[in-house]
Amino acid sequence: MTEEKLSFQAEVSRLLDIVAHSLYSEKEVFLRELVSNASDACDRLRYAALTQPELTAGDPGFRIRIVPDKAARTLTVADNGIGMNREDLVENLGTIARSGTAAFLTSLSGDNRKDFSLIGQFGVGFYSAFMVADRVEVFTRKAGDATLWRWASDGKGSFTVGAVPEGEAPTDGGPARGTRIVLHLREGEDDYLEELRLRTIIKKYSDHIAVPILLGAGEEAAPANAASALWTRPKSEITPEQYKEFYHHAGHAFDEPWLTLHWRAEGVIEYTGLLFVPSQRPFDLFDPQRRHRVKLYVRRVFITDEAESLVPGWLRFLRGVVDSEDLPLNISREMLQHNPTLAKLRSGITKRVLGELTKKAADPEAAADYARFWDAFGAVLKEGLYEDHAHRDELLKLLRVRTTASDGELIGLDTYLGRMKEGQEAIYYIAGEDAAALEKSPQLEGYRAKGVEVLLLTDPVDEFWVGTVREAQGKPFKSVTRGGADLAKIQGGPDTPPAERPAEGDLSSLIALLKMTLGDAVKDVRASERLTDSAVCLVADEGDLDIHLERLLKQHRQ
Ligand code: ADP
Ligand code: MG
Repeated sequence: MTEEKLSFQAEVSRLLDIVAHSLYSEKEVFLRELVSNASDACDRLRYAALTQPELTAGDPGFRIRIVPDKAARTLTVADNGIGMNREDLVENLGTIARSGTAAFLTSLSGDNRKDFSLIGQFGVGFYSAFMVADRVEVFTRKAGDATLWRWASDGKGSFTVGAVPEGEAPTDGGPARGTRIVLHLREGEDDYLEELRLRTIIKKYSDHIAVPILLGAGEEAAPANAASALWTRPKSEITPEQYKEFYHHAGHAFDEPWLTLHWRAEGVIEYTGLLFVPSQRPFDLFDPQRRHRVKLYVRRVFITDEAESLVPGWLRFLRGVVDSEDLPLNISREMLQHNPTLAKLRSGITKRVLGELTKKAADPEAAADYARFWDAFGAVLKEGLYEDHAHRDELLKLLRVRTTASDGELIGLDTYLGRMKEGQEAIYYIAGEDAAALEKSPQLEGYRAKGVEVLLLTDPVDEFWVGTVREAQGKPFKSVTRGGADLAKIQGGPDTPPAERPAEGDLSSLIALLKMTLGDAVKDVRASERLTDSAVCLVADEGDLDIHLERLLKQHRQ
């Protein structure tokens, strides 16, 4: 057999080094990862066979088989899914395409290995096989292809790939199509040859997998998992643990779901949704190349996890599955984009998710919990405020902000509006990168003296939504760094010192001098009520760009 020896991409080598030497206690998750890949491979072939039925001719069913061999000390995980050709093998099992992975690996080096559990979200599940194996072989034949390929590695910098000639192919009943992964177990890992142990692990992590998982080489024993799509089962029969494992599999996530939504819609359109809001911000939330969007199924057949219009961009943190009864099975991924049923699905999903978030936001008991959600995903929801006019009012109710008077806590706009001073006509805000620095801004002095609360906006998107939304309950948003401060109209706060302002005349010569000295660098120099301690501050003119926005835009143009 002619084999080629190839080097792993540097990041993979670094990763494998961490994997092999990790003290990670839950090594058993390697099986979850391999089963998860096997199930994905079956999903992908089922989809491909919709348009090319010959791909599954002769063997239309799907299965995953796990076979321990005590004599050889190997554990085999086999599937009859899509399989891989040579190119797939080199690309998928030799490199890490996911952006951000290199940076993550660097952060893992040194004493930070405790964060190893985070590794799963980087799409590197396959490599976890090296936690329990010192050599891994992959035999695989892509559905529709003739050639069987073998990939092998000891995880130390390189791997080999070669075609397995007819006759040399192992004949232990391996699938005619699909992938067989043979783990040569490390010393001391014989635990994973025990059927009972394997059965327990499958039940724990992979019960929700819709493809039957068979244990052992013998002919049809009952599957070790429930082998039905989790979202089709009645809610009352699903445990929180099963929901969580499903979320991990479908969302490539490793945290607890913050919110689990499982519902069936009947009426204009019929579908089942099983969606999760993560509790932690996925690392690639702001990466346009990110994967793992909500998975779209049509009558239990996986179609795509790249249907961009299934969920609005400002809900892109959602994970899980939507299974439609109405879309045609033979819909191509390209046709989806303009499909009216998909638009209905999107509006149904959006309504449902917003409804649940609104309930959470309105529940005073859940305030701390909601604040955790907001800190993770508020910046994304805010995009909806300027992109999605139809949902603006609902989103404004979900909005939380920190202010000069909120003591680091998040408050809603309703709370702010209820605390406005007599004569206050606007919702005041100051925008910048850092709340602590903002609070020291001289522009705030006059507001503070009058007891007027000011929103501290620190997300880059803030400037954009306040600019688009413009007002809430009839009160305009106004930057304290812009325009003539209308503080004079507002009734004084609790600690307003008695007015001892110098008469206008006292200042006019100073102002004239400043104007002369500063020349074209400023538009105007004015006396103002906005300062109490500082002598001067910069403001933007009414109608001009806010100072922070101007800075942001300058950075972007560079
Ligand atoms: P992820 O599953 O997040 O993409 P993995 O490291 O688990 O990352 O797998 C990497 C890739 O290798 C998969 O995306 C898939 O393309 C390929 N792959 C792994 N296992 C199989 C399999 N059993 N059948 C087909 N392709 C597979
Ligand atoms: Mg995987």
